[in-house]
Formats: sequence, C-alpha cells, structure tokens
Amino acid sequence: MADCPVCTEKKTYEDENIAMLTAGSVTLVVPKQHYPIMEQTPDFIIEKMFIHANHTLLQMFEKGAQGANLIITNGVSAGQTLPHFAMQLIERKENDGLFPLWNPRKLDEETMGAIELKLKEACQNIGVWEEQPKPEEKKEEKTETNETYIKRYLRIP
Ligand SMILES: [Zn+2]
Repeated sequence: MADCPVCTEKKTYEDENIAMLTAGSVTLVVPKQHYPIMEQTPDFIIEKMFIHANHTLLQMFEKGAQGANLIITNGVSAGQTLPHFAMQLIERKENDGLFPLWNPRKLDEETMGAIELKLKEACQNIGVWEEQPKPEEKKEEKTETNETYIKRYLRIP
C-alpha cells in the first residue's frame, strides 16, 4: 500500500510472507502484504510471524537481552497507530526504565471467577475457524463484507 509507512519503510529482513523492521531495541514483525488488522491476516501468515518472532527473541537473548515484550495493538481502541498489522518485539533488561505495560490490579475472588468463566466460554471456539464449512452451510446472503464489518467494528478509517 503506497501510503502505508510499514509497506514503504526499508526492511531489515523480508521473505515471501514476512518482513521485519528493527530500530534499536524494537523489532516489528509484519506480514509482507498489507493487512490492516490481525483478523484480516491469513492464519498461515500469523503462524509465520510468531515463528519469526521466536527466532528473533533467541537472537536478542544471545546478544544480552534479559526479557522481551511482544505487543500486538489490534484496532484503534487497543492503541493501534500503524495502518498495517504488526507485532512489536521490545528487548528488555532488568531495570531498563521502560514503561510497565500496565499496572496489575488485585481482583477479588468473585470477579476472578466471573472472568475465568468468560474466558473459558470465549475459548471454546478457538481453532474452529480452521474447519472448512460444508458447502450447504455457507451463507451467501451478506449485506456487508467481513472487511467492512471488521473496519467498522474496530473503528479503523
Ligand atoms: Zn502496509
């Protein structure tokens, strides 16, 4: 995409599917093709992104990193600022003074139980998308495309 800063930036690594951009202690692992958000990115690309991230983490640790943050901001509400789906790897060292990602809160047992139930319910369908729908189950009557729906849902312009 011509006006995307990720697509037009010089890459430190790229292959057929994945590209990486490194600046100091931060590496972006991105799909080589432009996909605005994770849901639009094919599963096999996401898999390759995580494999590349894992290899990059090994290199970071070999060079002295003591930890790393892997951050995906997916959607404007989640803090996504790039128009291109990206996984950020941030090299960390003890007492490096970088931001804490968030300040953890102590929840009471009742709230924790409710969250656990919601997570279990939400996780029941993980992996289901990999099953191919039978031809008679396909729904042809859509008033909007998945892409339009996702952009509207996540408020991406
Ligand atoms: Zn792009």
